[in-house]
Amino acid sequence: MITGKKGNALKAVVTGGAGFIGSHLVDALVARGDEVTVIDNLSTGDLRNITTHLDSGAARLVRSDLLGDGWQDAIRDADRVYHLAADPDVRASAGNPASVYDQNVTATVRVLEAMRQAGCSEIVFTSTSTVYGEARVIPTPEEYPGMQPISIYGATKLACEAMISGYAHTYGWRSWVFRFANIIGERSNHGVIWDFVHKLRANPSELEILGDGRQQKSYCSVSACVDAVLFAVSRTNEPFSCFNIGTEDWIDVTSIASIVAAEMGLRDVSFRYTGGDRGWVGDVPRMLLSVEKLKSLGWRPALNSEAAVREATRALLRDTGVIP
Ligand code: NAD
Repeated sequence: MITGKKGNALKAVVTGGAGFIGSHLVDALVARGDEVTVIDNLSTGDLRNITTHLDSGAARLVRSDLLGDGWQDAIRDADRVYHLAADPDVRASAGNPASVYDQNVTATVRVLEAMRQAGCSEIVFTSTSTVYGEARVIPTPEEYPGMQPISIYGATKLACEAMISGYAHTYGWRSWVFRFANIIGERSNHGVIWDFVHKLRANPSELEILGDGRQQKSYCSVSACVDAVLFAVSRTNEPFSCFNIGTEDWIDVTSIASIVAAEMGLRDVSFRYTGGDRGWVGDVPRMLLSVEKLKSLGWRPALNSEAAVREATRALLRDTGVIP
């Protein structure tokens, strides 16, 4: 049973709350006493990520697809919606643009409409570094002027940001948009570390690396990411606030491969590169976000990219039963 409101506790709806980042956000909201409702169709999410909270009654699940109906009632008495549900696969987005548009843009507009009809006026949205495209300014600040996404995924997320800004200004809401670097850690279900662990389990002597291995990007732990989101939301009060979240350094793909192989106890792995300066259509060779805006509020990333990669690798190896 969800009990009554405690102190400053909010009634929070988390779309995509059974997913990788969403479930960590649910952990944090439950820990501070919010009443949490998760809306998730479990397409990539996993019930096990939130079972403890469902069993204890600290959270409830509305198992529903945002492109269908039946979930809108859950928003009726919510104070704030954290909208994370999306198709988050940048690489695959080149192969199914219309579906990614529906999952990301249409679903977001449906959430905004449900909020408008319910009178809910606060939304937190998880955007991405890919909205910047191949930025010429690195570290890239939120005010970067030439935003030109080069992936279908990035384009859909930028469209979502624009719709949220429009709704927030039109209807007097408060909104927060967070542009994430690569977020990694326990319960991750996609991305480079996940890919390397699974490839090395299948073949421990050779690892295929997409691109030339020199791509450099910022990797941030999921706990730091959730911490940054809640920190910024508690300290800003605008119709539309936008923050980058990442680390202040980057790490290249070959170094990630070396860390993953070492953490798996593999000494003689040969790396085979597919070549080119990027891994796939829509990928960028370099990504580092400026986090000065967040730092000016007093936030600091807990780990650098290398430490976050090592920690995330160990967590994934525990998740998959490779190490105890
Ligand atoms: P995830 O796939 O683990 O989580 C997405 C969740 O949304 C899943 O639980 C899935 O079942 C649910 N979902 C998807 N479509 C739905 C629909 N139509 N209706 C209801 N539920 C639906 O992915 P994640 O990595 O946790 O990503 C969470 C958010 O963060 C996404 O918006 C993603 O674009 C964004 N993001 C992630 C990263 C990253 O590095 N992981 C980086 C930038 C932005």
